[in-house]
Order: sequence, then structure tokens, then C-alpha cells
Amino acid sequence: MGERVVILLGPPGAGKGTQATRLGSALSLPHVSTGDLFRENLKNNTALGLKARGFMDSGRLVPDELVLEMLFDRVSKPDCARGYLLDGFPRTIPQAEALEKRLAERGARVQVLNLVVPDTLLLERITGRRSCKSCGNIQHQKYSPPKTAGKCDKCGAELTQRSDDTAEVFGKRLSEYHALTRPLEAYYSARKLLQSVDGARAPESVFEDLLRTAGQAKEHV
Ligand code: AMP
Repeated sequence: MGERVVILLGPPGAGKGTQATRLGSALSLPHVSTGDLFRENLKNNTALGLKARGFMDSGRLVPDELVLEMLFDRVSKPDCARGYLLDGFPRTIPQAEALEKRLAERGARVQVLNLVVPDTLLLERITGRRSCKSCGNIQHQKYSPPKTAGKCDKCGAELTQRSDDTAEVFGKRLSEYHALTRPLEAYYSARKLLQSVDGARAPESVFEDLLRTAGQAKEHV
């Protein structure tokens, strides 16, 4: 049997990162986030990071060819041999087509979990989001406030705000989502792969629902 690939879809602020961390452990699949991979490249000042920076800072999507090369390189690593959980990829139809081709060749089993959250909730989620520099834990100023101000509840390191989590950049990210990523719902729906989960609830309820949905085999090659 081929590898198992779970795709987490949803707008910025839907909770993909938070849920993917837990879901990945629960399903024993490595969590692969293209946003995290880009941020790592930025931190390490790689050529790819330099190319991606302007797009990320202004809330635009990084061009498909850069994303695809980075992603395929990552999922070719040994830890992904049995499968992986994708967070933030694909984000365009060409990305989905390239992934589909690769997965079909490998006989992979695919599931698409779509986190549905209305636009009106997203801005507050994004601007209140803080993440840990050290362990990557995600908290929220209002919904999961740190026990000690500015410090990560898990490891005590400093919590910071992502530079693209401002109201201004968020507006662009949301319009990119509607123009380029939202069409993936119809794409996967036509392939009978799309399973939607209400993401507008507390993280714990969303997680339980995702886990249950992931266990229901609406998956195919
Ligand atoms: P995220 O952490 O998923 O919100 O991604 C942060 C930023 O990285 C996005 O706003 C894009 O600029 C870039 N990015 C991440 N994943 C992709 C992707 N699949 N396609 C294009 N750009 C991406």
C-alpha cells in the first residue's frame, strides 16, 4: 500500500498550524508546513528564503515553482516514506495538479480535510496570534493567553508575532486565499475527496472532529 497523505485546507487563521501539530502526532504522520519551511529558509538566509521574502512580507503567495521544488524535496526525506500531513500546501490549482501527479505515480492514499471558518473571525485570530521562537507552539492573546506575559506556556521561551500577522498584510493574504486557494474546494470536491469540518469552534472540539473525520475513509488514489 502506498503512502498516506492528509491535506489540511483552510484560510489563514483557520487553525491549520495548531491542528496539524496535534493531528500529525495522533496519526503518526510528520507535519509538513510550507509556511514553516519558508520561515526556516528566511531565518537561515538561504537563496530560497531571499526569493520568498518579498512575497511573504506583502502577503502574496510565493510562485508555484519555488514552492513545489521545496515541498517535493521535503517529502522525499525518509521520515515521509509512510506518509505525511500537509499544512498550507497546496494553495493553488497548479500546485494541486503537480501534487496529484506525483501521488498518483506513487499510489498514495489521499484525504483532504477542509477547515471552514468565516472571514469575520479570521482577523482577530490572526492579529492575536503569537508563536514561540523556540518550540513553535502557537498561542493567542485572548483565546489561549500565556500564563506569564510574553512567554511560551510549553517551554518558557519568548513568544513573538509573525511579521505577516498584521491587519494590513492579513487583508492581502485573505484576498490571495479567495482568488487562488478557495478554488481548491471545488477541485477536491469534484474528485470526491473533500471533507469539511467546522473550524469556528474551540480548538479541542475542532481537533476531535478532525480526528474522527480523518478516520472515515473518504480517501482514494
Ligand atoms: P503560512 O504559514 O501557511 O500562513 O504561510 C506564510 C506565507 O508563506 C504565505 O503567506 C505565503 O507567502 C508563503 N506560502 C506558504 N505556503 C505556500 C504555498 N503553498 N504557496 C505559495 N506560498 C506559500
